[in-house]
Amino acid sequence: MLDPRKSRLVCEVDFEKDGKQTGFVRLFHSVHASAYGFIPIPIVVIRNGEGPTAVFVSGNHGDEYEGQVALCDLARTLQPEAIKGRVILLPMANFPAGMAGRRTSPIDEVNLNRAFPGDPDGSVTQQIAYWIESTLLPKADLVADLHSGGSSLMYVPCALMKETGDEKRNAAQRAMLQAFGAPINYITRGGSGTGQDNTLTGGAERLGIPTLGTELAGSGTVTRDAVHIVRCGLTNLLVHAGILPESERIAIEAEPRIVTVVGPEHFVYASESGVWEPLVELGQTVEAGDAAARIYSPETPWLAPVTLRFQAGGIVLCKRIPGRTSRGDCLFHLGA
Ligand code: CA
Repeated sequence: MLDPRKSRLVCEVDFEKDGKQTGFVRLFHSVHASAYGFIPIPIVVIRNGEGPTAVFVSGNHGDEYEGQVALCDLARTLQPEAIKGRVILLPMANFPAGMAGRRTSPIDEVNLNRAFPGDPDGSVTQQIAYWIESTLLPKADLVADLHSGGSSLMYVPCALMKETGDEKRNAAQRAMLQAFGAPINYITRGGSGTGQDNTLTGGAERLGIPTLGTELAGSGTVTRDAVHIVRCGLTNLLVHAGILPESERIAIEAEPRIVTVVGPEHFVYASESGVWEPLVELGQTVEAGDAAARIYSPETPWLAPVTLRFQAGGIVLCKRIPGRTSRGDCLFHLGA
């Protein structure tokens, strides 16, 4: 476990006090325009006596907005009298990236969700990661990290969990997915299984805390459907945790819950650079060998386009948004 005393960030709010407190986590950042200034990362703590703690994070990627909208709603509407335990909201985890509407921080170009466990003496984003893993996450009994596709990807709104060797935690995460109630849920095994998981989920995993992720649409915009799903999902997650009473549960329309496992064969990557034409759309079911996309070379227009094929069958969960692509870009990913 990381030493919270090593973090340079200073939190204005008292996590142990009852009531609703709002304020900022101060990340001191001495620059030309502000010699003694700090980066103000907003935080809300709502507490009422003893009970479980839910930590909800959005803006881990600054260009993913649906979770930020839902956490703004919770910050205003969730009253301490209504709950038992504690809810901690961190709506703009990578604040500089959020203000810039970018995936990565404009200050150090670091992707917060690839920076865990972070570094207390590192760049601003590494310092944020360190504070989250050393100080915030250890307080949690359950974590939700609210993502979407960001500027370059669009998802069918879904929730997800990372399966690990800890069966007890896996079962707790499956129950969280069930409670959240997204129409589609998928299970990942994460990375290659070697080395350290440098995502926020990886940080929660190191601490043994059950964690739910989401991919709520994307395209660098806000989608009504996705906001509805995340609003209902977070309320139901708080009911599931025993923080809100059963009477607050929101009924979810009976949708098919497709639980899928995603491996490298479920991704389609651009093999060339050029302009790409999708040959399937989001939500469509495909078979292994089906044509996925064509990549054209308008700079050499007489060349035949290259056709890419799916390596496995499944449902199209995610699609690249920009029409220009470079070798190595993810164009699609499937759920099995
Ligand atoms: Ca994301």
